[in-house]
Amino acid sequence: MNIAVFMDRDGTINEERGYLKTPYDLSILPGAADAIRLINKNQIKAVVITNQSGVARGYFSEEVVERVHMKLEELLKEKGAYLDGIYYCPHHPDFGPPGYRQRCNCRKPAPGMLEVASKELTIDLSHSYVVGDKASDIELAHRVGAKGVLVLTGHGKDKIGSLHRGSKSRPHYIAENILAAVNWILLDLQVK
Ligand SMILES: [Mg+2]
Repeated sequence: MNIAVFMDRDGTINEERGYLKTPYDLSILPGAADAIRLINKNQIKAVVITNQSGVARGYFSEEVVERVHMKLEELLKEKGAYLDGIYYCPHHPDFGPPGYRQRCNCRKPAPGMLEVASKELTIDLSHSYVVGDKASDIELAHRVGAKGVLVLTGHGKDKIGSLHRGSKSRPHYIAENILAAVNWILLDLQVK
């Protein structure tokens, strides 16, 4: 069984710019490529999980999402890092045409994307980690028995107050950015 670091995309790996409608607006945050390279070096699966309800809302197509992901992989490759998987949820419970408008099992904090990744990449979720800038990322970690790390990039800084209140979304660790998050994860794995 593999261990994974599941990473949110917008505000965690790349700059949060609202809905990303073109690959040209993709800009990787400082330390993100280093963080992913560290994950790669330690034989841990590096997996992106991202809610892209902009598809359901009609802001952009799934083809655009795929193009953004190709660009992301290209930028990471230039820095010697790679992703083992990218999963996205195009749905929204209230917006969009049938098919896209649904109460799916993949929109975070629902566990669907992690469940599929776990099967496809043979991942032990209970020893894995979720890193993200929103309460939904941390709540997802709790739902699957993983550890959640909140990053203070993207929306992370605004969320910090509310995250301490509910145990459902209390992070195991709060990190300045994704690189600090991964450094903590590597230490945490050694402690076990
Ligand atoms: Mg985010």
